[in-house]
Amino acid sequence: MSVETIAPDVAGQPYRYARVQLVEPDWTRFPGWRDVTAADWASAQWQRAHCVKNPHQLREVLGDLVAESFYVDLARDHAERATMSMLLPPQMLNTMASGARPHGPGSLTEAFLGDPVRRYMLPVFSDRRTDWPSHPHSSRDSLHEHDMWAAEGLTHRYPTKVLAELLPTCPQYCGHCTRMDLVGNSTPQVDKLKFTVKPTDRLEAMLTYLRTTPQVRDVVVSGGDVANMPIARLEDFLTRLLEIENIRDIRLATKALMGMPQHWLQDDVRAGIERVATTARSRGVSLAIHTHVNHANSVTPLVADAARAMMDAGVRDVRNQGVLLDGVNADPHVLLDLSFALLDGAQIMPYYLYMCDMIPNAEHWRVSVARAQQLQHEIMGYLPGFATPRIVCDVPFVGKRWVHQLAQYDTERGISYWTKNYRTSIEAADNEALTRLYEYYDPIHSLPRSGQDWWRQHA
Ligand code: SF4
Repeated sequence: MSVETIAPDVAGQPYRYARVQLVEPDWTRFPGWRDVTAADWASAQWQRAHCVKNPHQLREVLGDLVAESFYVDLARDHAERATMSMLLPPQMLNTMASGARPHGPGSLTEAFLGDPVRRYMLPVFSDRRTDWPSHPHSSRDSLHEHDMWAAEGLTHRYPTKVLAELLPTCPQYCGHCTRMDLVGNSTPQVDKLKFTVKPTDRLEAMLTYLRTTPQVRDVVVSGGDVANMPIARLEDFLTRLLEIENIRDIRLATKALMGMPQHWLQDDVRAGIERVATTARSRGVSLAIHTHVNHANSVTPLVADAARAMMDAGVRDVRNQGVLLDGVNADPHVLLDLSFALLDGAQIMPYYLYMCDMIPNAEHWRVSVARAQQLQHEIMGYLPGFATPRIVCDVPFVGKRWVHQLAQYDTERGISYWTKNYRTSIEAADNEALTRLYEYYDPIHSLPRSGQDWWRQHA
């Protein structure tokens, strides 16, 4: 992004606000896209057909602008560490190394290695930690969502709200995906779980549960990413959901609003969302979109257009749920730049920043609760209160807690203890559910030496 106007220099402020102009980076700077037209770029079909799925396809786009060692590093990560398969829409690839000018073989290698979006969308082996690549308490379904399935793919964790995983795919795969157990294609390291019930029966079972469970009022319609469900089928599901009297809030989860905004700009998609939003409004139901943007570089004019199109279609709000990732955005200036780009540039509401969950091979992305608390402190006061993202820790068997809500904290061993004020759907008969302390673990490499020694002895 380029700076449009600079606020007067206010002496001594740790962060200086500057209004920015969103920019769509020039995709023709990459050899493989030299002849790609603006019409191609705007086409969702073209974007889907040209997603990068392996190092060979990446080389076809970048050619020798990136050194061979990068492709080797990428391939090794896929073979030995990756929990998600590679799937990168051109829109997202184009935001990487966008400030660097290509000037010959290898000239973009450093920019690619250091790029924040690359670091979570195209992880390479050398990014990962070698001392503790995984925390000893990491697990595939780290939030135990499957344990709380009321119907296949329908997680009932909180008293009044559910998560409906309509499908297990997305138009893009993020290296840190918390649903790595289920979402995407299997990798050499992870055999993905498969839904066993037929898609139509699965969705029907979800609706049946919601019809017969009046205490649920709020449904996060997710996946995967709802952008991968044909709009006619998504519209059909949402229309039937809106017929259930107890449902008052519907949130559509789609990272593709940023990763492939072209999808949400298609005429049939806009028309389908408009019909659903009109019905929602007539019934007094709030329909919102929740997207997932982790860095200001991802917020381009096309992303702003897609957000605007959804609000014009009648969606009440577009909100962002980013993930706090070391090497990507775990820095107060980066988080504020992201929040202002979303808010000023695209009218997307900064909402949550989740701490990266305890999945395997994610330690290089995770930060300690103490660092998350410090980041929350540092971003306070610059944004309007309603648009100041809350940094939350999704504590296994508890749910989202603001990072300052912990009950106890052993900073030497990096163990935080949390309580909760409701039972999950599997704890109706658990007398200790509301008094027990639930544990969450900081990355071991962030601990003092004595704490690291303790884990070496006890892991
Ligand atoms: S878009 Fe969401 S569900 Fe899909 S891979 Fe990324 S984090 Fe996972």
